[in-house]
Amino acid sequence: MAVKASVTRKGAVLLGKYVACDGFHETRPLRVVTHAHADHLIGLRQSLKHCERVLMTPATKDLIDVMRGPLFLMMGNVETLTYNQPFRYGDEEITFHFANHILGAAQVLVEDNEGTRILYTGDFKLRGTPTVEADVLVIEATYGCPSRTRPFDASVENVLVSLVEQGLREGTVYVFGYHGKIQEVMQILRKAKIKVPFVAPEKVFHVSKVCEKHGMRLGTILLSTEDEGRKLLKNNSPCVAFYHMGSRHKVGQDSFRVCVSGWEFRSVCRRIGDKEYVVALSDHSDFEDLLEYVRRCRPKEVITDNYRVGDAVALAREIWRRLKIPAKAVP
Ligand SMILES: [Zn+2]
Repeated sequence: MAVKASVTRKGAVLLGKYVACDGFHETRPLRVVTHAHADHLIGLRQSLKHCERVLMTPATKDLIDVMRGPLFLMMGNVETLTYNQPFRYGDEEITFHFANHILGAAQVLVEDNEGTRILYTGDFKLRGTPTVEADVLVIEATYGCPSRTRPFDASVENVLVSLVEQGLREGTVYVFGYHGKIQEVMQILRKAKIKVPFVAPEKVFHVSKVCEKHGMRLGTILLSTEDEGRKLLKNNSPCVAFYHMGSRHKVGQDSFRVCVSGWEFRSVCRRIGDKEYVVALSDHSDFEDLLEYVRRCRPKEVITDNYRVGDAVALAREIWRRLKIPAKAVP
């Protein structure tokens, strides 16, 4: 079979003849953005300048508008594509399928003129992500090593809720995470009937508003830069303050603190300081989930993404060893 998919040294996932996902490639007229995380926006400025079309879901567009400013995407010819709505280009068809990761995340299926189905999963968590069957599969490999297995996935949300409840008895609880996951935590807490106000700095606030626009229910969120929110934080009143992981060393030093991270495998919750905890909330598949996806997808060949952080080499080896499907880590 001719090479129908690849991953370049600059992080572009090439599918079929026309599409480059999550990276720039000079010969590809179509750029796809699978979701709004930074390691999937590589070369986007170049793509906006040089590609005929830049495709993404409406929610991903809204998130990028918030994170990069509304003018950024206006540099190029952006077209939004909803899930399951085919887009024809030349003799190929491109379709987005839902991926349970952050708001707007998509798997990308290209069907070429020979009927070959070429799929890139993008980032995804197995639970809630529909399997798309394909001949050629490019899969993320964040937790591609056999030791990256989480035996406790289902209990994480409950642990998170009780930890926050415990902290609220003492006052403000600070939660640190990445964009998208922060809003997932907000939703988990609201579903558990935690009704205290949420406080957030500007960017987190606006990302949350996009999430609400696309159907998430997050309740009252106050800006940390405005009076009401600022007062709550200053008085250590019961509220939950949400900050990006990057602010971890700058705010809430003496308060009750919870970091949500996928890079935790031994326990659901680990104490790392006097009043600081890490909770293993992940928006990626663990090793077993990645294998399970490959099993269900039933591809003839697999490429594991070896550009982004992860264990693509180990994953490719295990796919061959355990499923007997040819797999290689690229690049
Ligand atoms: Zn991601």
